[in-house]
This record gives sequence, structure tokens and C-alpha cells, in this order.
Amino acid sequence: MRRRFLTGRVSLDFSHTGGDGDWAVWEILHTPADLAHWLGVILSVDDVAVGPGDLAAMRPVRMAIAVGARSLAAGGSVSAADVAVLNAAATVPPLVPQLTPSTPGVSFAAPTAPAALSTLARDAIDLFGGPLAGRIRVCAAADCGLLLVDTSRPGRRRWCSMQRCGNLAKVRGHRQRVPS
Ligand SMILES: [Zn+2]
Repeated sequence: MRRRFLTGRVSLDFSHTGGDGDWAVWEILHTPADLAHWLGVILSVDDVAVGPGDLAAMRPVRMAIAVGARSLAAGGSVSAADVAVLNAAATVPPLVPQLTPSTPGVSFAAPTAPAALSTLARDAIDLFGGPLAGRIRVCAAADCGLLLVDTSRPGRRRWCSMQRCGNLAKVRGHRQRVPS
């Protein structure tokens, strides 16, 4: 589960919480409480208020991020429909960060699910419209399929997680070279 949230971008991490169609098997956002919990984990924000319509409103935003990112990773572009969904979600005021008075740290003022979705949509807009759009990749491990953003200077990162997919690929490569 932890591996789903290693993309380095909150929008892509969020796209790994599930989805429609083939991605429904990965779904972890079944209830408003799930949405509050996982928005909190991904955005490091406590006590996100989730209203009755927020779970349904989340789904097209998450799909627009997932489909847009995978299209860019394949050398394509973001569809006009997905652009419209992301732009609309971003018009809502985003999460408002606040310095914690006593201890050094950041909290968020009255966080809500629409504000969190706006923050996620804005992250996707920044990513899809910026120089890193060409660095969005799908993990090279055949059984993985998670997204990543390659921010390394040489731009040759292939795996979502070196600890898991990278090492598994190394072990498999080694087994192929050294028949047991
Ligand atoms: Zn992977």
C-alpha cells in the first residue's frame, strides 16, 4: 500500500487510490470516511471534512488525473474533457496552510474535501503543464503499472520503487543470467 504513494506528486499519489473500470479492483475509497482518511495521508492534513456529495465529485477528478498522466507517459496529450474537469476542480479555493503557533509546523484551516480536490487538481495542472510532463512514466515492472515522475538528472528512472520493483527486476535479471 505504501508503494502507491511514492510518485513524488500528490496528484499522482491520489490517482493510485483506485478508479473506474479496470482500476476498480484497486479501490480504497469506498466511504466518505475513506476519502477523509486517504486525503489526509496523501496531503498530510488532519480532519478533512467530507460532505455527502464529495465521494461522487472526487471520481471524475481522480480519473482525469489518472488518464491524463498515463496519456502523457505514453507520449500523448491530456484530452479536452480531462482538461475541463481539472480546470473546474481547480477553481475552488484550495487547502489553506497555516503556521502552527507553538511548535514549528504547518496545519490547514478548516480543510474540506473540495479544497483538497482543488489542491490535487492544481498539482496536476502544474505537473501536466510544466517541464516535468515529459518525465511522467509508468513503472517498468510488468506486474506493477504505478505512475512515477522521474526527477533524476539523467532521466533514466524506470521503477516506482527501487526497494521493490527495482530490486525484483535485478533479482529476475540475475536469475536469467545464472541458471540454477
Ligand atoms: Zn513498480
